[in-house]
Amino acid sequence: MSKLFLVPTPIGNLEDITLRALRILKEEADLVVAEDTRKTGQLLKHYGINKPMAAFHQHNEHRMLQQLVGRIAAGECMALVTDAGTPAISDPGFLLVRACITANIEVECLPGPTAFVPALVNSGLPADRFVFEGFLPHKKGRQKRITAIAQQPYTIILYESPHRLIKTLVQLSEVLGSSRKVSVARELTKIYEENIRGTLEEVITFYKNKEIKGEIVIVVEGKNIQKDDEQLED
Ligand code: SAM
Repeated sequence: MSKLFLVPTPIGNLEDITLRALRILKEEADLVVAEDTRKTGQLLKHYGINKPMAAFHQHNEHRMLQQLVGRIAAGECMALVTDAGTPAISDPGFLLVRACITANIEVECLPGPTAFVPALVNSGLPADRFVFEGFLPHKKGRQKRITAIAQQPYTIILYESPHRLIKTLVQLSEVLGSSRKVSVARELTKIYEENIRGTLEEVITFYKNKEIKGEIVIVVEGKNIQKDDEQLED
């Protein structure tokens, strides 16, 4: 059946894969397109799946696009997976989805693991409206993005690496104010999962002088216009 499936894979805990994801990888897909064929090969082996694979990552995705679209259009069923979580969420996928839609190919993303949803829900910050910012730019445009984020009235979600956590929290504190609430989710779904909640100042104090390891999502309270106005009147 000619189709592109986007198949979410665990972000740590190997139990976090759906029965449908396993069936599609095992039975329906003719080809598994993977960000890292070695990592995905190990994952598939864990689930007892043996499938032909092709590499699709940020360095070859433009080059591979037409070839993959051509193969699906010719009748193949493809499953796109990334190293962890949902494809296209801070990972390769968007270009392939867009190219398939343009070529009138059916696209189906399975629901499944992604880091930002448990991080948001664990934060205790409003989850009814939120903005997903992904990774902040490392250099060019970083300050401008933080300034824009500061005005967001909705809960803000950022992906971050452990060695940049303190720098990012300090920069957020400088622009958003040290009393803005934040939650740092680390190593979600893994043995040492940790959710540290507090003001930016408190969470910076918690992490300062600690060796920070693992994968991280930062969830920040949106700008509370009413509270900020009240503070200005005081
Ligand atoms: N596609 C993935 C998803 O759906 O969440 C995101 C891929 S992105 C390249 C990797 C980033 O996701 C990490 O740097 C971290 O910010 C976040 N992340 C992934 N797994 C995580 C985990 N177990 N705990 C906390 N954050 C995680």
